[in-house]
Amino acid sequence: MVMHHGGCHCRRVRWRVQAPSSVVAWNCNCSVCSMRGIIQFVVPSEKFELLGDSKECLTTYTFGTHTAKHTFCKFCGITSFYVPRSFPDGVSISSRCVDPGTLTHVEIKHFDGRNWESSYEQEFAPRSQGAVSTELEETELKLSSFKVE
Ligand SMILES: [Zn+2]
Repeated sequence: MVMHHGGCHCRRVRWRVQAPSSVVAWNCNCSVCSMRGIIQFVVPSEKFELLGDSKECLTTYTFGTHTAKHTFCKFCGITSFYVPRSFPDGVSISSRCVDPGTLTHVEIKHFDGRNWESSYEQEFAPRSQGAVSTELEETELKLSSFKVE
């Protein structure tokens, strides 16, 4: 675990987040992620901290189920983090908005957000719902620790 720092383009929004130096990041093809080109990794919300007056520079866009809170900087428009629909108790960090130096490896996985329900089931649903590959077991292990924390 390391402390990553990051934020938006104009630097009015700044945050720090505790996460591994090597992360699995999701490239989601849903309507909003694909327009933003965001490659994101998820952390429990208690690992994320907004710094200074960042909150005053943020505004939030929602659509559809309104579960995801698409926060972005009022001034420069950059989404450096947001609250994702998949993990409403977590925070999605835009890997491209992390200051250089602390993220040593980003493994990019694709999430079919255009078919959100079936993709969520496939990637993140509880193990009891069917057989899973080793890769998904790893994801689930991460997610179960994520929930306990
Ligand atoms: Zn900004």
